[in-house]
Amino acid sequence: MILSYIEIADGDIKKTSLEVAQMAAELAKKMGDSALAIAIGKADVTKLALIGNYGISTLIYVDTDVSISKNIATLVANIATKNNASTVIFPKSIMADAVAASVAIKIDAAIVNNVVEIPDTANGFSVKRSIYTGKAFAKVEIKQAKKVLVLRKNAISTQPTSDIASVETYKEDISTNHLKITETNKTKGDILLTDAEIVVSGGRGLKGPENWHLIENLAKALGAATGCSKPVSDMDWRPHHEHVGQTGVKVAPNIYFAVGISGAIQHLAGVNSSKILVAINTDPEAPFFKAADYGIVGDAFDILPKLTLAAKNYR
Ligand SMILES: Cc1cc2nc3c(=O)[nH]c(=O)nc-3n(C[C@H](O)[C@H](O)[C@H](O)COP(=O)(O)OP(=O)(O)OC[C@H]3O[C@@H](n4cnc5c(N)ncnc54)[C@H](O)[C@@H]3O)c2cc1C
Repeated sequence: MILSYIEIADGDIKKTSLEVAQMAAELAKKMGDSALAIAIGKADVTKLALIGNYGISTLIYVDTDVSISKNIATLVANIATKNNASTVIFPKSIMADAVAASVAIKIDAAIVNNVVEIPDTANGFSVKRSIYTGKAFAKVEIKQAKKVLVLRKNAISTQPTSDIASVETYKEDISTNHLKITETNKTKGDILLTDAEIVVSGGRGLKGPENWHLIENLAKALGAATGCSKPVSDMDWRPHHEHVGQTGVKVAPNIYFAVGISGAIQHLAGVNSSKILVAINTDPEAPFFKAADYGIVGDAFDILPKLTLAAKNYR
């Protein structure tokens, strides 16, 4: 049995979890096994059933407001054991990383993080993972019977069908005595940076917070989330939750626009899972151009209004 862990955010399945479901379904098919999903949280059952679009026929749903990794890991490990899961696949997120590590210990599994492909099972169980903040790949042979895999964002392309999964509710009393979350303040913004299909990010080249409407206008026209470089959030031009990079949020959109961002290695470490990188910079020697798929050498103050207008016209 291949078990996929489905994350819920604001009542919906997160995009990265759709990729996990697809990977679990394809891996199960390859191994002549079956695939099951588990979702823990608060969600509409009809929305959860849509996981069937990604090859999962049954989803086990635990309707709870428990959001502490230790408790979630207990639930996942128990369900994995009850269903004799050989492999549990998690999406990449701060919470899922913690749960995955804990589940691996509980079920005595080998764990591989940053997986980028469906494992090769032709001769053993070989997993390709990204290393050195996405600059290289490694192949890992897993010998252990039980495996926990954490899938890197945007690594698997999904092909949704119109199939619907059956949702089975599961109840288990898990103690929450050791820790209780009493208040949660969510970051504002229409589109979650970590889930966004398109991100428009600004750096010090924007000169000041008073110019951020240029970034926001392009983001709005494209249906994108906004991000920034570290110095920009350090100077309080933008909130810290928008800081992208090695020490900030790691994003994996289909398109990442870096506007007035030099392309320091610490920034690139947070964006190199993006499918397409677009750099806009006045300096043709800016390091970002070496990483970018498309580059515009020019002044952000000229280019951004033009791109925004073009995006509006296109839409
Ligand atoms: C331990 C450590 C961790 C770090 N972690 C991170 C991290 O997570 N994320 C991160 O971003 N940084 C991080 N940094 C900082 C990083 O090294 C860089 O200093 C930072 O990314 C630079 O930000 P920037 O590109 O916005 O600014 P700058 O380096 O000042 O670059 C500004 C760019 O804007 C261009 N520009 C200027 N005017 C215009 C214009 N009108 N139109 C278009 N382009 C223009 C310039 O040519 C330049 O390339 C870290 C550093 C350290 C030491």
